[in-house]
Amino acid sequence: MHFQDLNLIDPLLRAVRAEGYETPTPIQEQAIPHVLSGRDLIGCAQTGTGKTAAFALPILQHLAARPSNGAIRSLILSPTRELATQIGDSFAVYGRNLRLRTIVIYGGVGQQPQVDKLRRGADILVATPGRLLDLMNQGFVNLTRIEIFVLDEADRMLDMGFIHDVRRVISALPTRRQTLLFSATMPQDIQDLADRILVKPVRVEVTPQATTVEKIDQSVFFVEKKDKRALLEHLLGDRAIRRVLVFTRTKHGANKLVEQLFRSNIQAEAIHGNKSQTARERALANFKSGRTRVLVATDIAARGIDVDDVTHVINYDLPNEPESYVHRIGRTARAGASGIAFSFCDAEERAYLRDIEKLIRLRVPVVSEHPFAAAHAALPVHGDSRPNPRPFNQGRNDRRGGQPGSRQGGSPRRDQQHGGRTNVNRSPHHAEGRRSQPE
Ligand code: AMP
Repeated sequence: MHFQDLNLIDPLLRAVRAEGYETPTPIQEQAIPHVLSGRDLIGCAQTGTGKTAAFALPILQHLAARPSNGAIRSLILSPTRELATQIGDSFAVYGRNLRLRTIVIYGGVGQQPQVDKLRRGADILVATPGRLLDLMNQGFVNLTRIEIFVLDEADRMLDMGFIHDVRRVISALPTRRQTLLFSATMPQDIQDLADRILVKPVRVEVTPQATTVEKIDQSVFFVEKKDKRALLEHLLGDRAIRRVLVFTRTKHGANKLVEQLFRSNIQAEAIHGNKSQTARERALANFKSGRTRVLVATDIAARGIDVDDVTHVINYDLPNEPESYVHRIGRTARAGASGIAFSFCDAEERAYLRDIEKLIRLRVPVVSEHPFAAAHAALPVHGDSRPNPRPFNQGRNDRRGGQPGSRQGGSPRRDQQHGGRTNVNRSPHHAEGRRSQPE
């Protein structure tokens, strides 16, 4: 299946091509034809599956068919500011060849700039529910012309206690509209909501992201910030790391790292938003051909990087958005392959690790023996120092021989096996205490 087979208009096809997407993801393949035909839809899919394009592309196509009339014609509700921003960015990217305007609004920041933008008018509004209601109540937002409404990450809305706000927003929408509901899971409350707000929806489902995540051999290295580069160079001593994507949080960090690696005779290139399109394409081509072994990327730049055979992903900095972790490590499990993901975690990033483990419902095994092990490794990640009810997979899948550094425990395990608690005290220090616990 190619994007051309989805009956998408040329400006959209050009945009996805420019992003480097070659084929639609399963959710896109399944959802786009239905959304284009005007059907309501329930999409069971997590972030990381390509679901944003699954709704953004057909929405853009629908809106582009008629000229803007100054009214908001599509509303996307997102539970978090980060996701709202990402969705807004995606609309900008996929809609780059169309003349449609997107506004993103969320709480926690001053409302005036958002109000100014709303006054100027837009076709698409991406919003978090609280701020949207606020602005609606003040008369700054008019939703009576909405043609397509998307409720994204519905289960997370519920978890975060936004469901009442969501209901209030929905009551302000015209009843004649197309509605799309995306949710990673389908608890009864969400099903009930879906029954109320959707009309004869089609249901599309893709294999949960967790399956992909589980396929990836993940581990975390507790390290001081100042030792990260030395640890990276140490790991890169292993030639089994053939093609590696290294993630930094900032563009500056990416540049600096490439320079430092260069001084140590390690062939690396950076790819980020400040590079020209040509420079990015060249870096990507070198990486694909194997000329560059290490590609250092930021999250935004890594969107659309679709290189098969990335043997490793290294999170040099942990992302503050747990979804980004899933996106990042997903780069090493393309085309059904399984991959390896290492994460460096300094003292300040421990909270990020906790959020990631909550999202993926896995505990990422800790590599405790490496030359740059940090003192903070001994601290509990989840602020819960109760002994773990069972030892963490001691000895299973131990890769001491094949990997620089040895790891406590084996492959990641699901939280549920621990009664839903996540407790990552897997340093030798804590393992002692657990060993005396019954299995
Ligand atoms: P999403 O689940 O929408 O957050 O998308 C996850 C990631 O996959 C994003 O970085 C997208 O840029 C990327 N992506 C979406 N569709 C495709 C595609 N068809 N091919 C390659 N990458 C894609």
